[in-house]
Amino acid sequence: MPERIDRVVIVGTGIAGTTAALTLRAEGYQGGVDLIGAEPHEPYRRPPLSKELLAGRIPPERVRLKPPAAWADQGIALRTGISAVALDRGRRRVRLSDGGELGYDRLLLATGGRPLRIPGAPTLRTLADALALRARLDEGGRLLVVGGGLIGLEAAATARSAGCEVTVWEAGDHVLGRVLPGWLAAHVAAAHLRRGVDLRTGTPVEAVSHTSGGYRVAGESARWNGDHVLAAVGVAPDTALAAEGGLAVDDGIVVDDRLATFDAAVYAAGDAARLPRGRGEHWADAQEQGATAARNMLGQDVAHTAVPWCWSDQYGLKIQICGRLVGTPETSGDPARHDAAISFVHDGALCGAVCFNRPKEFRDLRSEIARSEDGSQTVKA
Ligand SMILES: Cc1cc2nc3c(=O)[nH]c(=O)nc-3n(C[C@H](O)[C@H](O)[C@H](O)COP(=O)(O)OP(=O)(O)OC[C@H]3O[C@@H](n4cnc5c(N)ncnc54)[C@H](O)[C@@H]3O)c2cc1C
Repeated sequence: MPERIDRVVIVGTGIAGTTAALTLRAEGYQGGVDLIGAEPHEPYRRPPLSKELLAGRIPPERVRLKPPAAWADQGIALRTGISAVALDRGRRRVRLSDGGELGYDRLLLATGGRPLRIPGAPTLRTLADALALRARLDEGGRLLVVGGGLIGLEAAATARSAGCEVTVWEAGDHVLGRVLPGWLAAHVAAAHLRRGVDLRTGTPVEAVSHTSGGYRVAGESARWNGDHVLAAVGVAPDTALAAEGGLAVDDGIVVDDRLATFDAAVYAAGDAARLPRGRGEHWADAQEQGATAARNMLGQDVAHTAVPWCWSDQYGLKIQICGRLVGTPETSGDPARHDAAISFVHDGALCGAVCFNRPKEFRDLRSEIARSEDGSQTVKA
């Protein structure tokens, strides 16, 4: 007889955790759902933090995932500003930072990621980080972004569009090294260079120090003085609770393709989870994993096969990436004009795609990749 599930506890109020909570209800589950989040805010969307919110085009209320009453309306017990600090898997209980304890039949760890740090330099992960950075950029002046990945370049584009003087230092030999090959990333770099961003590759940072008016930054081959610094050098999965609870951790909480850990009562999803195909760090993938985990917690036995994908908006350029960018690229349009669809064909099968300002074509390519088994590989952040 299948085990009766009366109480599900979800740790993490990001998109993976919240999607799981809403999916439990959408699937008809009527038992208890506790949704616990360390951040003080109602659940919100992270992608606008480096884009519209940072630019001041939308207020913080507009990044909320749902109206505040929606959680209670769904019978979801949302608790913000509270961390899960210990996990007793034998007794199936989670201890909370306010001294309370929650019992569970199924537990989902959707604890996300934490930005890697450079001592002395602020990072951009949370709403609080974004509001603090926005207040600094409102003063104008000179910004150094350390790291030419998706978040670093989005912040650079937003700050440059707002009139700041922007420098980007990337340690690798091209920007967006984790998501795009160099020949495609060059077209994104060109958008920054055209707007006067001082973008340097092969420039790792050695030290960041405060000065009376701002920051001084030293690299192997460069020096910089200015008003604001942002470290955007990657994300590490937040595995603290999983490790505390004795779960397997290896670049993420180790799960199978059902998002289950080796403990059949405990699941993980989103940026914190490492699936057999790898770990993702993107919005839609975290969302889809939350939904899959919820269905599996209810005993549905569904594999997570969604093709991972991500997007980025920089100046007027929408970049969309999915699948594996291996094999032979076939280009339609002109990437230099930021109007192109590039398909990657490996062993005769479409396995990856990149689009510049072609959202409809991207949807079609992604669907086609989903039909191929090869599509279920991760795009690294
Ligand atoms: C500025 C920015 C812009 C982005 N833009 C894009 C984009 O354009 N496109 C894209 O595809 N992706 C983008 N991303 C990535 C995307 O937002 C993430 O992949 C996604 O939010 C991950 O969701 P998650 O639910 O796994 O984790 P998170 O959103 O990190 O949520 C995890 C939550 O768990 C909480 N938590 C951790 N441990 C505990 C604990 N012990 N107890 C209680 N709570 C805990 C954390 O505080 C956090 O609130 C962006 C990310 C950032 C930061």
